Amino acid sequence: MTVQQLPTIDLLSLIEQRAPVRFKRVASSHGGEYAGNCPWCGGTDRFHCWPHSERPRYWCRSCQAKGDAIEFLKTYSLMTFRDACDELGVDPSDMGYTGTASPLRLPPEPPVQWMETAALFISAAQRYLFSPGGKRYLDYLLGRGITVETIKKKNIGCVPLSKEGRWTESPFERWGLSEENLTPEQFAKGCVRIPDGLFFPHYVNGQCWKLSMYRPFEPEKKYRRGFIIGSKECLLNEDDFTSGKPVVMTEAFLDAISIEQGAGDIVVATSTDGSTSSRSLRCQARLGYAPYVLLAFDNDPAGMDASKFWGAHLKNALFYPVPTGSKDANEFLLLLLCQPYKKKSVSPIPSVLSAQEKSTRTPMRVHHAVSVAIPDNRP
Ligand SMILES: [Zn+2]
Repeated sequence: MTVQQLPTIDLLSLIEQRAPVRFKRVASSHGGEYAGNCPWCGGTDRFHCWPHSERPRYWCRSCQAKGDAIEFLKTYSLMTFRDACDELGVDPSDMGYTGTASPLRLPPEPPVQWMETAALFISAAQRYLFSPGGKRYLDYLLGRGITVETIKKKNIGCVPLSKEGRWTESPFERWGLSEENLTPEQFAKGCVRIPDGLFFPHYVNGQCWKLSMYRPFEPEKKYRRGFIIGSKECLLNEDDFTSGKPVVMTEAFLDAISIEQGAGDIVVATSTDGSTSSRSLRCQARLGYAPYVLLAFDNDPAGMDASKFWGAHLKNALFYPVPTGSKDANEFLLLLLCQPYKKKSVSPIPSVLSAQEKSTRTPMRVHHAVSVAIPDNRP
């Protein structure tokens, strides 16, 4: 994989600096959709912009003006194609660039009230997990190879349905949420709705920033994953990123904690919580602390796309696939638990790593770097 740094373009600011346009966030599609007055037709709110999508773009629903940053400079600022590329730092022969992935002008952290309520929520959900009512969720986690020690360390909890058999509803105010910090579609829901399921807290600077959920018993796949409204984008274990340990990057919480359980003493395991999530510049900067970021996304097309994205955006990324035959790190943990390794290695995940080093799919450059970062003579 070639590791190249693509220029980052903030299309929203580019347009606001050059044209008398003021945007307002209107939806969360493609990382955030903004609308404002159109610099061409004068329409007041039909000029839309998606600055955080893979290819940032704008579109006027009234006059149909549309394009990307280069097109904007050509048509609005009347620049030549080459001048527009120069202005944006884009190589005209390559044209590769990327948008800002973090919603602009919004604080990256949740409201203080949200973080306080989340802390209370987590302690109640943890108690419930170890009560008779939480038994099936606890059994589910144990069945996925996660130990009680790991479950407690990661503050995992679960929530039942209400007595009436419905999702729990909690007022926005209790979570410090209002029309100001919600998208119109979130605000339209009227309250914070909490389904039955497992909850995985994510912390930044010691505070809960995100509560993602997994509902293993929900029959419909599309309702199995999600997060509590007001959660903010962050990476699992990002407080632990240092120059002293490589980070292993996965796309699901259970994959990351499977690695943490087996090899937490030599690597920091993180998860993006979805193959296309956590791509903000803030998250990218946090990953910059690590000596190496080992990309171990799922063995499927979405996981491959995620590896390509991070390989192109991080200078310290190395392709580090889960061994062929396992879909993800948790599946590999289960494989190891069912067929205990005959090799001398004690913990399963260092075996993942050494098996990886033998993988013919891994380029030579990766072998070398990993053997530097991870001692292979562990007892
Ligand atoms: Zn227009």
